[in-house]
Amino acid sequence: MRLLAKEILNLSARFSGRPLAWLACLLAVLGGLGLTLLVSEAVRRSEATQLRERFTLAASERISRIEERLDGQLSELNAVQRFFSNARDVKRDEFQSFVGPMLGDTLAYSWVPRIIHAERARFELMARAEGLTDFSIRDVDSRGDLGVSPQRAEYFPVYFSVSTRIGKPPLGMDLYSIPARRGVLQKARQSRSTAVSERVQVFGVQDQEANGLVLVAPVFYPPADSESNLRGYVVAVLSLRLEMEAEIAPSSLERLVMRVSDVSRDAGEQWLYSSGTAAQSGLREYRVIAFADRKYLLEVMPSQSFLDSSPFSTARLVAFSGLAFSLLLAGYLFLLINQRQRALLEVAERTHALREREQELQLSEERWGFALDGAGHGVWDWDTRAGRVFYSRAWKSMLGYGEEDIDDTLDARTRLIHPQDQPQARLELERHLRGACSVYQSQHRMRHRDGHWVWVLDRGKVMEWGNDGAPRRMIGTQTDISSSKAVELQLAVANGQLRGLLNAATQVAIIATDLNGNVLQFNVGAERMFGYLALEMLGKNPEHLHLAAEVEQRCRELGRRLGKPVDSMLDFVAAVTAEDRYDEREWTFLRRDGSELTASLILTGVRDERNERVGYLGIAIDVTERKRVQQALEARDRLLEKLSARVPGVLYQCRMKADGSACFPYTSAGIREVFEVEPEDVRNDARRLMERIHPDDNERVQESIRRSANDLTPWREDFRVLLPRQGMRWLRGESVPERNDDGTTLWHGYLTDITGLKLVEQELRALSVTDALTGVYNRRYFQERLDTEIARAQRREGPLALVMLDVDHFKQVNDRFGHEVGDRVLKVICQRIGERLRRIDVLCRFGGEEFVVLCPDTNAEQAASLAQALWQTLEREEVAGVGRVTASFGCASWREGEGANALLRRVDSAVYAAKKAGRNTIRIAE
Ligand code: GH3
Ligand code: MG
Ligand code: MG
Repeated sequence: MRLLAKEILNLSARFSGRPLAWLACLLAVLGGLGLTLLVSEAVRRSEATQLRERFTLAASERISRIEERLDGQLSELNAVQRFFSNARDVKRDEFQSFVGPMLGDTLAYSWVPRIIHAERARFELMARAEGLTDFSIRDVDSRGDLGVSPQRAEYFPVYFSVSTRIGKPPLGMDLYSIPARRGVLQKARQSRSTAVSERVQVFGVQDQEANGLVLVAPVFYPPADSESNLRGYVVAVLSLRLEMEAEIAPSSLERLVMRVSDVSRDAGEQWLYSSGTAAQSGLREYRVIAFADRKYLLEVMPSQSFLDSSPFSTARLVAFSGLAFSLLLAGYLFLLINQRQRALLEVAERTHALREREQELQLSEERWGFALDGAGHGVWDWDTRAGRVFYSRAWKSMLGYGEEDIDDTLDARTRLIHPQDQPQARLELERHLRGACSVYQSQHRMRHRDGHWVWVLDRGKVMEWGNDGAPRRMIGTQTDISSSKAVELQLAVANGQLRGLLNAATQVAIIATDLNGNVLQFNVGAERMFGYLALEMLGKNPEHLHLAAEVEQRCRELGRRLGKPVDSMLDFVAAVTAEDRYDEREWTFLRRDGSELTASLILTGVRDERNERVGYLGIAIDVTERKRVQQALEARDRLLEKLSARVPGVLYQCRMKADGSACFPYTSAGIREVFEVEPEDVRNDARRLMERIHPDDNERVQESIRRSANDLTPWREDFRVLLPRQGMRWLRGESVPERNDDGTTLWHGYLTDITGLKLVEQELRALSVTDALTGVYNRRYFQERLDTEIARAQRREGPLALVMLDVDHFKQVNDRFGHEVGDRVLKVICQRIGERLRRIDVLCRFGGEEFVVLCPDTNAEQAASLAQALWQTLEREEVAGVGRVTASFGCASWREGEGANALLRRVDSAVYAAKKAGRNTIRIAE
């Protein structure tokens, strides 16, 4: 390695100044230029060939087109000639319609008849008759003006002429009068075939087209064997320009230059036509063609625009790019050689420096290993290719082994790792080797030589990677962390216990924060109470759990009290927990779902072992339910108070002890009205109330209370009280007893004034026993009372008698005075009898106008005298408006053992007997 470096250094020194690079450049440029010249010459030649071929093609195409066109002209003229040969007489319009479609590029077609002098006058007349008003055969003089032809043997005037380009056809003009035309006419006449003129000026057309040819075909009368048989000529006037250029694309015209000359003349060639200027190129295409009786030379040369049509010369491009490429190549070679030389130099220098660094590194590595070992860190160094691990002395002694006790395999280490920790340790190592983490780190247990487990922190890093991406060398340290691990484990246990404790308190929210108010603990109770998960709350300020307005208000209050501003919940908590104080009060909290709850919150500081405050603790107990119950109770109390104040009567609680003494622990305000006592008067002693009970009812009331207490049956009693202010009142009491453990009986019930009710009841009762019309007792009452009295008599408590009376002829009273008067009579009778009766007698209406008097304690004699007295009462006094009303009386006294019916039957019989005896009398029952 060192030798090689030296060699390279030498080389680079020899070539300093870089002549090698320059030489390479020069060669590259020369070679490139030579190659470029060769290639571009070849390309140029090929381009020239292509150009020539292209020109030849275009030029011969053009010549062929012209040849075709001229042939076309000949055949068209021949068609017109045949038209005249075949028709004896051709009219002007027939001519026009025949040649019209053939006109195309031809300037004009004309019919020129041969007129002999003898027919001249007639011909001119005929022409005029056809509408050619001032028609006459005319000559063209040397100045070009027309004048009437002088007398000649024959004339050749233009008679029919069709043209689209010549303004006014020169009708009547004698073609023989024009030398240039006469020649061609005579030639055609002599050769009896089509002849073409030399280049002529065409009359009546613009300059460009004026350069033309006249094509003439003779028409003979049959047999066409003699010149004298000539009938005339058909003439086509051609424009050379049109013949050469018509129907050829302007771009093509521009690119090719055309020259036409007549080469049939002995006198040498005559120029006929040329277009544009030819470029100097050496390219030329030509052909000699026959046209009628003449020969034309057609020449085609390229114009400059043809040569320029491929301006971008590939040859030039090749030359240019060849040159550029050669230069680039030279530059690149120069750089390459230069760089390589520099690189070789650098490699040599670096190798040298590396060697020095390597030595330094080895030194430092040793120092570092020593330092680590000294600090109690074990070092390992794993050469993966060799499969060897170096374990430092400290590494081994950490596990109780000596220098020689552990071999240098990876397995020696793996074997010592706790089986439970092995998967995790392996995973961590693989993660690092995979490149998933920059440093390998694992905490695991390793077996000490004497059998116990040592917690170690194992850390390492791959220091060298192979080209294939596989680790080559990895170095790491191993530290004994048993003691800190023990503390950690203890802490974890304590923490777990604490968390368990916190979370067990599910009804209590416990929140611990640091001094910044950020949550450290949020137990299950808090999760339940506020609806947030511990995960969401950890590290956050729990201020949002509070009602902002409430916090603000309390901060303000506290601030006033302390005389310094309290701006936030955190300030508040800090202030109330200062100096071992704590704070407990109810707060309104906001749950996650937006609902509110009231909780009693105890705020206190958390202190460390130096009694420094390190955080805050909040313990909240939901008092919403308690509050709600309390409020409900208060509401119920209020309701009860209202109800009891408004119910007509008194609600009470009465307690009776075993010794019979009673008191009213609770009485509603109504007691003031119902008993005219104050609740306090009877709270401890019921006597004040009991004294008010009516003496007649007292015994009954006391008895019923005792019964209810004994049997625990509901108590219900109506009784009278005598009140100082209201006098006698009827009360009704109802209550339900319960027995207490101490033997006392407690009633809950109410007492209400029913005096009104009693009065109504008495009225009703009176109504039910009296007769509505007369007011005396009714028959039902009589029957009841009779039974009672018979029972009394039966008990030998005195005799009993009945006096019965029936109004005499009462029907007649009704009949005479009406029913209402009858009613009045009945009332009067009752009133009079009632006045006569004794206090003990009971008068009853027994039937319609039948009455019975029940006389207790009355014997037969007394009854008879009573009947007598009553009879006299009626007998003595008349009823106003009716007169005397009498009645028949019967008397009966009760006999021992007699029933009510039997007694009644007997008294009724007595009345019947009285009636029988003539009425208005008294009979005593037997
Ligand atoms: P006598 O008893 O003397 O034989 O004759 P009398 O006319 O009284 O006969 P009777 O006892 O048969 O008739 C009783 C009549 O009394 C019939 C009925 O019209 C009338 N009467 C019964 N009750 C009433 C009543 O309440 N008012 C009126 N105005 N008439 C009554
Ligand atoms: Mg009667
Ligand atoms: Mg009667």
